[in-house]
Amino acid sequence: MHSIGLYIHFPFCLRKCNYCDFPSFQGMDEWITPYINALCRELQEWKGKLTDYRVQTIYLGGGTPTLIPAEQIAYVLNLCTSIFHVEDDAEITIEANPGTVSKEQLSVLKDSGVNRLSIGLQAWQERHLKTLGRIHRNKDLLYSVDFARDAGLYNISIDVMFGLPGQTVDEWLETLYRVCMLGIEHVSTYSLKVEEGTLLYTWLNRGLISLPTQEEDRSMYYRGRDYLHQHGLEQYEISNFAVPGRECIHNLIYWNNGEYIGFGSGAHSFFNKERFSNYKGIKKYIDAVMTGSKRTEFRERIDEVNERFETIMLGLRLVKGISKKSFMERFGRDIYYYYGEAIKKLEEKNLLIDDGRQIRLTTRGMDVQNTVLLEFMGLN
Ligand code: SF4
Repeated sequence: MHSIGLYIHFPFCLRKCNYCDFPSFQGMDEWITPYINALCRELQEWKGKLTDYRVQTIYLGGGTPTLIPAEQIAYVLNLCTSIFHVEDDAEITIEANPGTVSKEQLSVLKDSGVNRLSIGLQAWQERHLKTLGRIHRNKDLLYSVDFARDAGLYNISIDVMFGLPGQTVDEWLETLYRVCMLGIEHVSTYSLKVEEGTLLYTWLNRGLISLPTQEEDRSMYYRGRDYLHQHGLEQYEISNFAVPGRECIHNLIYWNNGEYIGFGSGAHSFFNKERFSNYKGIKKYIDAVMTGSKRTEFRERIDEVNERFETIMLGLRLVKGISKKSFMERFGRDIYYYYGEAIKKLEEKNLLIDDGRQIRLTTRGMDVQNTVLLEFMGLN
């Protein structure tokens, strides 16, 4: 039996955030029920196709999945367990925004199998929440965590961002302080990327906002990393920190270049040596599923050369790096057969370490990961 993760996308949001370029939409609530119907049909179509697979994780992402009535989410999860072999201890995560959860709702979700909550806070200070276009106030985070604990959820992650317009190091550390004070199990930290097509991009181009310099951004990253470490959250991936044993198993599947299937609009999959994704538009996705026509807007066969490079690229994001044994089992030859030259060169520069079992980046190597990856490119 192989392991696999399932990702289920819910593309509805109360309001589009000013930095967001994810496949999520506001003002489409009347499409929730038709969307759930299409999602269930898509899940049904996989019946009998994963008989050799054990589902290790289910990730309900978005958008804002907690805008969907909990009973409908419970129905989708029940369907998953009736179609697939979902492990008894599978990690089942739901993403939530503060201000979109209630204790009753989280209790229903917990009863339906959800055992992990990922909350998007992004920043503690009201002025940053406003710039980002978030719908919530900072105190909503406190209620959300209380509701989750009351509902019996003891695996909570919070997403936060640094490198925000006008953000100081002290504000960034205050955000982390507020998060750590809640005693949660996992933190994801991201540097803000201003994507074309977003409101922040327009503001930036018009000179209405300015971003911290590269040095300030890096300084926030290092200070944040040290702060989280001092508060018991160990870094296990470039952007992710957890109480030992509470690492996100679903994301570890991605970083170990494992297989996953995405359901819903815009959802991506890596399965059977192919990467593919569904249509991003809600109506287009529903139409395609309900009429049984083509629903993927992207499909690519991954040959072995690419699969090896992707395994390196993703695995080196992890603090513990790439298991030499797993690499050998997967590709039939020692990692040195393909990448010996690059590994030796990087070891000499003190950017990479072979500890006998794992190939991993040094702290310095983590800082210049793109340069490191260039050494692996083109080798096969
Ligand atoms: S809540 Fe998340 S998905 Fe929705 S608009 Fe904001 S950032 Fe995008």
